[in-house]
Amino acid sequence: MRFRGLMALAVLTALVAAPAALAQDTAEDARRHVEFLADDALGGRGTGTEGAAEAARYLIAQLEALGARPLPGADGFRIPFEFTAGVRDAGSRMAGLRHNWDEAESIQALAFSEDGEVSGAQVVFAGYGITPPESADYPYDSYATLDVTDKIVVILEGYPQDADDDARRVLSNFADVRFKAFLARTKGALGILVVSGPLSQGDGAVRAPRAGMAGAGAGIMAASVSRAVASQLFELAGHDLAASQAELDTGNPHAAGYDLGVELTLETKLNRDRREGYNVVGHLPAAAPAGAAKPYVFLGAHYDHLGHGEFGGSLAGASQAGEIHNGADDNASGVAAVLLAGARLAAAERQRHVVLGFWSGEEIGIVGSNAFLTDGALPAREIAGYLNFDMVGRSRDNKLSIQGVGSSESWRGLIERSNFPVGFDLTLTEDPNLPTDSTAFNLAEVPSIAFFTGSHVDYHKPTDDAESINYDDLARVAELGALVAGRVANGDAPEFVAFQSEVRGAGRGGSQVFTGTIPDYAADITGLLLGGVIEGGPAEEAGLQGGDVIVNFGGVEVGDIYDYMFALESAKIGEPLEVTFERDGETMTVTLTPRARE
Ligand SMILES: [Zn+2]
Repeated sequence: MRFRGLMALAVLTALVAAPAALAQDTAEDARRHVEFLADDALGGRGTGTEGAAEAARYLIAQLEALGARPLPGADGFRIPFEFTAGVRDAGSRMAGLRHNWDEAESIQALAFSEDGEVSGAQVVFAGYGITPPESADYPYDSYATLDVTDKIVVILEGYPQDADDDARRVLSNFADVRFKAFLARTKGALGILVVSGPLSQGDGAVRAPRAGMAGAGAGIMAASVSRAVASQLFELAGHDLAASQAELDTGNPHAAGYDLGVELTLETKLNRDRREGYNVVGHLPAAAPAGAAKPYVFLGAHYDHLGHGEFGGSLAGASQAGEIHNGADDNASGVAAVLLAGARLAAAERQRHVVLGFWSGEEIGIVGSNAFLTDGALPAREIAGYLNFDMVGRSRDNKLSIQGVGSSESWRGLIERSNFPVGFDLTLTEDPNLPTDSTAFNLAEVPSIAFFTGSHVDYHKPTDDAESINYDDLARVAELGALVAGRVANGDAPEFVAFQSEVRGAGRGGSQVFTGTIPDYAADITGLLLGGVIEGGPAEEAGLQGGDVIVNFGGVEVGDIYDYMFALESAKIGEPLEVTFERDGETMTVTLTPRARE
């Protein structure tokens, strides 16, 4: 312990001229930041809320105290972005057979539905609505005997429940309602009605649309109907939904759906609530910038969290529903780390400007950091490296993970040298495409790493509170972050490497097909935005590049990442396929030949 402390001091004096009592101070500072941000008074810091605004005011005061300034050309420390705060059904309805179902308990549009209206459309029951692609090598096709062109399709949630293990393993991969909607669309259906079958678990209530599934529409009208309404509809049409489900649940591939022989009017309407959120970003100017290429080094952490559970993916149990999610570890801890590291760096010599960024909208889909890079408030090409801190307050047994070191060959050396005085037991992982803000930077080709002390039982629950934080180690995470950032600030810019991770298909054992595309998971557009392509991969050879928006892949229309994953399932190794994409407002088609994954 002492050895480590002395070494830390020696290196720090050299690097940042730190006062001797620093270690104790920083742990106390960390506690002060976390306790402020994770207080009930901030209401869980949901993006766009008053609690988030209060957190932003606090961060701005901290930045000012550090001597930080707004980015060149920015109005101030607050940098706004737009986001979908919520999505509500706006009066979807269904009518036919002298009935009118227009109550919220009967029918609601799914979050990814298109708004639309059809009348006099025939209705077809397509069972579980699953057709695994050929690559899954499992003969099951809900649509084998059905023509659903210009019709409304009724689909059961989930997958056959009593089928054998093998069948369940395959079919469960294609049970996501987005896949089902996609499949129905490719079969020519106008709309889908999704229901939890009479033999399924749960109360069969209508599913209200959830903001996390919003974003671009799926190119088809899609609604959830209650079990009661679906059963009534089948009864009016002279069929028995429960009996049909019983037959399908055996997994018998020959159990088929059928035409209900009735016509319906279907109208789907959603209200997407667009609001403004704020990133908070400032920089510590270099006293004597060396005029280096890439004059900025960037440290960032998201300050938003789940509010009362209505933002992002709460894991609160039923007894905790609606409670404040304070997010002490996720991510008051990361914010504290950036502030502490900023304090060290503010006192240090540096040839690059140090940017301190606090993101909002992370929990609802990495929205804030993506918007920041898309809007060009600071061009990505000017950033030498990005260090992300998300959930860094629960270190146990001296362990710390640093993820994304595959984004530059320089990271391992920089980290290991910096860690020598700090002494964490490090786990370094390569893949920079992570479920946190560093992914936005990696996709913008900024070498990016992410500090992480691991998940825990309080993750995304109301119990993620300030008293569970390990403040001494949190201060050491900040120390290590400052040392790595200091080396980047005063050395050569790490060279970016496009790391080979890509969407894997959902087939048996994962797809072996390699295309070399790097999707931008967070993009809120129609089509699949490529964050980049892997050097020497099939996509690059085909002429695709970052920024291209794929709209058709091998004959499969691509509206979003789900469509793309599905399209990948059908791709075959060594068989050329056509990829249509948009670039600079023009639509082009190239031929891509998938290879075997190594
Ligand atoms: Zn989180």
